[in-house]
Amino acid sequence: MKFRIKNHKITYIKIFVLFTAFLAFSPAVSSALEDPNDVLFQPSVITALMQGVFDGSMTYEELSSHGDFGLGTFNGLDGEMVEVDGQFYQVKADGAVYPVNSSMKTPFAIVTYFTPDKEMNFHASGNGSINLTMLQRYLENQMPSKNIFYAIRIDGVFDYIKTRSVPAQVKPYPTLTEAVKNQSIFEMFNQSGTVIGFWSPAYASGINLAGYHFHFLNNKRTAGGHVLDLRLKNASIALDYTPEFFVNLPNEIEFLQADLGGTNQGDLKKAESNAAPAR
Ligand code: ZN
Repeated sequence: MKFRIKNHKITYIKIFVLFTAFLAFSPAVSSALEDPNDVLFQPSVITALMQGVFDGSMTYEELSSHGDFGLGTFNGLDGEMVEVDGQFYQVKADGAVYPVNSSMKTPFAIVTYFTPDKEMNFHASGNGSINLTMLQRYLENQMPSKNIFYAIRIDGVFDYIKTRSVPAQVKPYPTLTEAVKNQSIFEMFNQSGTVIGFWSPAYASGINLAGYHFHFLNNKRTAGGHVLDLRLKNASIALDYTPEFFVNLPNEIEFLQADLGGTNQGDLKKAESNAAPAR
């Protein structure tokens, strides 16, 4: 792994995750690793969001130049962001989906140019359906390694999908754990739509949510949010292997002066999973 720190207007840290041994074991993986679009781009780090740094300096206009596929949130933690096919959407705590103005800013997001390296047509066995845990297990079996980042796109009809969104917070900002206590939960049935997901390796915890992070948007662009649970029978699933990871740290005083010494990963998991307290 190579770390490069550039001193620009804003500090950039570029992390190349290139495993020589990994390159050697599969020609398909090796060619995927050479795709210049396979960079995961992230403004700020999840630890800052956990600690209540809810205002970032990056506009959606700038974020759009780093990818056409992604998820995240907005300044003030005002709802869940979904980017599909180069279009940003804001799923607010009222459950409605709003267009995103390019001058809006984000304290945390993750985007990439989605170029599938592996595509699967998933069919649940028999007449059954699978839940989120089973889907996650299935995806892990499709990954050539758990040690790189993946963007995951799932298109299908979801028998059931449970999402959440968080209302805009007021200063002084609480921690993420406190903020999600006021989350709105949405339960939907028979929704055609897209799950936008990412897998981050365990070693990335603190920088990103280790493991999976999924957001959802229905095809009508009328509902979505941060995914807490789902059930599906059939879906088109695509994995984009993303071996490069680029973090752009905010230059906001709140970020620079925040105590980011240690985030409890258990608290983070709780804030971002179905175990989160429902309103
Ligand atoms: Zn989320």
